Amino acid sequence: MPSQINPDECISCGSCAAECPNSAIEQGDTCYVVDANKCTDCKENGGNSICIDTCPVGAISKK
Ligand code: SF4
Ligand code: SF4
Repeated sequence: MPSQINPDECISCGSCAAECPNSAIEQGDTCYVVDANKCTDCKENGGNSICIDTCPVGAISKK
């Protein structure tokens, strides 16, 4: 399942968007958001979601 960003926790640092290999994360109106149609769950990286490991405040999770 695609990654999801908690808008209450995201501080809009942009780190996840910079690291996503599929450009699946973009800046939204109030915080960054994941495009579920582009997120591959980092399957090409063995399933380790780069964005989750990158976020400094733990705002990204799987549904
Ligand atoms: S899990 Fe991977 S592909 Fe999906 S948004 Fe995060 S970094 Fe991008
Ligand atoms: S890395 Fe975390 S805090 Fe930074 S933009 Fe992404 S979700 Fe928001």
